[in-house]
Amino acid sequence: MLEETTTKSACLVCEEEKPSGILILGCFICDDCEKKIIETRVHEKEYCGHLHKLKKIWEFVLTY
Ligand SMILES: [Zn+2]
Repeated sequence: MLEETTTKSACLVCEEEKPSGILILGCFICDDCEKKIIETRVHEKEYCGHLHKLKKIWEFVLTY
């Protein structure tokens, strides 16, 4: 389900084109945002705030 990609794509989170990142269910997330997501996973309060946009992906990640 998680794929490495080298295709230049617009990140779902920061909306910037980045050279590398991961695809989750077809949604591209750059390396930087992936790290933030992993860190934020530890701090659920932050997640409830600014990662609201990623809720659906989060549900997938948390149950993966
Ligand atoms: Zn990003």
